[in-house]
Parts: sequence; C-alpha cells; structure tokens
Amino acid sequence: MDVSDQIGGRFVRMSRDEIADFQGEALKHSVAQAAKSPWYAAKLKELGLDPRDIKSADNIIKLPFTTKEDLRLSYPAGMLAVEPEKIIRMHTSSGTTGKPTAIFHTREDVDCWAELMARCLYIAGARSHDVFQNMSGYGLFTGGLGLHYGAERLGMWVIPAGAGNTARQILLIRDFHVTVIHATPSYAMHIAERMVQDGEDPKRLGIKIAALGAEPYTEEMRVKLQELYGFKVFNSYGLSEMNGPGVAFECGEQRGMHIWEDAFLVEIVNPDTFEHARPGEVGELVLTTLRRDGMPIIRYRTRDLTRILDGVCPCGIAHARLDRMVGRTDDMLIIRGVNVFPSQIEEVLMRHTWLGGNYVIQLTMREALDQMTVKVEIAKSTFDGSIETIRTQRAELQKELREQVGFTVNVEIVEPGSLPASEGKARRVIDERGGHV
Ligand code: ADP
Ligand code: ZN
Repeated sequence: MDVSDQIGGRFVRMSRDEIADFQGEALKHSVAQAAKSPWYAAKLKELGLDPRDIKSADNIIKLPFTTKEDLRLSYPAGMLAVEPEKIIRMHTSSGTTGKPTAIFHTREDVDCWAELMARCLYIAGARSHDVFQNMSGYGLFTGGLGLHYGAERLGMWVIPAGAGNTARQILLIRDFHVTVIHATPSYAMHIAERMVQDGEDPKRLGIKIAALGAEPYTEEMRVKLQELYGFKVFNSYGLSEMNGPGVAFECGEQRGMHIWEDAFLVEIVNPDTFEHARPGEVGELVLTTLRRDGMPIIRYRTRDLTRILDGVCPCGIAHARLDRMVGRTDDMLIIRGVNVFPSQIEEVLMRHTWLGGNYVIQLTMREALDQMTVKVEIAKSTFDGSIETIRTQRAELQKELREQVGFTVNVEIVEPGSLPASEGKARRVIDERGGHV
C-alpha cells in the first residue's frame, strides 16, 4: 500500500521483523520515560526494577500491569512524565462513575496521534479529496479531536459536526456531499432509522465510508448498517488511556482491526490468571504505549476482550489484527449463573430484518430469580404488518434467544423510535436487580 510518510508510511510498511526490532528499542525508551513520573518511579522501586533491566520487547512480562484504579489513584498528575510546560493537551476518560482519569500529551504526542489516526482512515480508503463529517462529541471525549486531527492530517475537508442534532447532521451530509463519516454504530443506526421514518432513503446521502466505533457492536449490526446506507463500515477501536481512537482500525478487507504496533505493544492475557493467552485465544487486551512521552502507560489492562487474528492480511500490512471486541470484562452479565455478553443478544436481534436497530436489555429480579427482558423496536417497514405475523416472528425470536443464552428471555416488541435514542455510546443494559449494579 502506497502510504505517505506524512501519515507514518515507514511504520505502516514495516515487516514483522522490523516491528519486533523497533518495539525492543521503543519499549526501553518508554519504560525509561515512564520512570520519570512519580507513579512509575515508585512502582519500579517497589518491585526492585531498574528501567535498564528492560532489554527487549519480551521483557515486558517483568513489568507490572497498570489498571484503571491505578489511573484514578495517580489522578491528577502522578503519571506525568515531562515538565508540565511540555504538555499541550489533556483529555479525560468519560468516567461514568467516580473520579475521571486524565491523560497528557506533548506536542510530539499529539502529532503522533494524528499520524496514527490518519493512517487508520487511509487504510479504510479515505483520501484527501473526501469530505469528512465527525459526529463525535468534541471536548474532553477523545473521539472529537482525535478523529479531527487525523482527518485534517490526511487532508480531508473536515466538518466538526459534533454529537447530536440529527436534522442538522443530515443537512450537512447532503449539502456538502459528505463521503466519510465517524460516529458510534448506535448513532449511525439512529440517523438511518429517523430518515426511514421520515420516508427518506439513507442510501441517497451517498456516504461511502463509515468509521464506527467507541462501543461494541456485532458483525450483524455492521451488515444491517451497510444495507441501510450502502456504505462500507470500518470498525474503529481506541480508548482514552491509549490516546483515544487511532489504536486499531480495519483495512479494506474488513476482517479485523490492524493495531499499530509501532505505537502500542499488544498482549492478550487470561483475565483471571494474567498469563499470556495462547495464540488465537480470547483474553483481555493489555497495551503499552511505545510512542507517548507526556504520559507513558505500561501494560494497561483495558478490560476489553478480544483475540489476535491468525495469518497475514491480504492488504499487505504486517501489523497484527484484533478481532471484533466480544465486550468488556465488566459488561459481562451473570444471569442465573450463566455468563452473557450483550453482543450475544445483539447478534440474534440483528439477524431479523423485521426488527430495527435499537434495543435495550432490562434485568430484573422476580422470586429471587434473574429475569432478562429484551425490548426491541420493530422496523418501520414491518410496523404496519399483521399482528399475527409479528406474533409468529416474536415467538421465533424468543426461541433463538433461548438457544443462544440457555434460558428464557422475555421479548417486548415496541414501536419504532420509542426507545431512548443514542447520540454517543448507547446504554444497552438497564440493571434493576439491585446489588448487581
Ligand atoms: P470510557 O472507558 O470511560 O468509556 P473511552 O471513551 O476511552 O472511555 O472508551 C474506551 C472504551 O470503549 C474501550 O475500552 C472499549 O471498551 C470501548 N470501545 C471503543 N471502541 C470500540 C470498538 N470498536 N468495539 C468495541 N468496543 C469499543
Ligand atoms: Zn489489512
């Protein structure tokens, strides 16, 4: 792939051997840099480790993990590794509960992030002549400025639309002939369904590429969105702790997300034993920054579950590919002793074309027994169908859900547009069991 150096072409083209060599040096640098922060200085001292003990990428296992809790404990600036005047930007994680976590970037860090993000968009097929609409919230949330800087680096015409205001989003897409968008999958679904309800066809917008991420979604959801809009969906993965978006992204093959290994050292560990998972096995993704000086993070336990895909990608890029995220360790629901991920429910729902794309999983307690109710909107086109047909389809759906999870799931079919719409990360699970929250 012909990738310019402006977006890190020399890194994108690296072979496996080159990546390994680069990572060895980069890890040594990153650990030495991290040791300049109060947090890691104390941590390494406690473990009797000297940054010079790290001689190769394999030595990563000598280093301690970093958790979300560590980030909270070191808040506000315990992991800052440069003089404060070197910092030009900070972001915080959306942190729905408790203290936020702050991440700091030097000028070079922001530059590197833009480069990583630009490559992502490039491998998905975006080019400088494209018009790009970013429907992420701006501000502390990294999906705004992260995508923005990457898209500008690529040279696209950027529309920083921000989140929400669906009517204006549609207007801008139309009037400025937007060809590339970035949004959460749930928001992209909401826009399409709004249009269909208004008797409009999302295909006529003419969007070609959709970078969708920031929340888990299934292959079935991708298919549904691609059919609705006629564009290609590329999975985009990132987290604030690792800059934000720009960590891993799908190429034109749409089979797993290339993770930029010049910037992130990847490990997959068993979430219970913390041992490395076997090749191809699903486990918790653990990432180490290799190119961030303002605030290096070592062996960050992302809580995201995935695996590294085997084999070489036909696109020619040697950077490893991550499989679609199964979910987050803390998203796993335990229902009557059975482990269930919301994605397993979504997978079944999205196979049914008579259903829309919005759904909620409600958990309640009845007679000391967990109950799961799935509320899902019916598609506009089938809404006017006969009650009898819908009843049959609902029974079929309930049977499939039971087969998928192993217990009876209540299904409530609701009117199009009646469930809360998502502008950012969708809230799919409502847990009313008490004690489980
Ligand atoms: P918060 O952790 O507060 O939600 P972030 O905005 O940093 O803050 O969210 C990052 C998280 O979002 C990831 O750790 C992951 O769980 C989820 N995520 C991001 N992109 C994807 C994706 N493409 N697929 C699945 N989950 C994703
Ligand atoms: Zn590829």
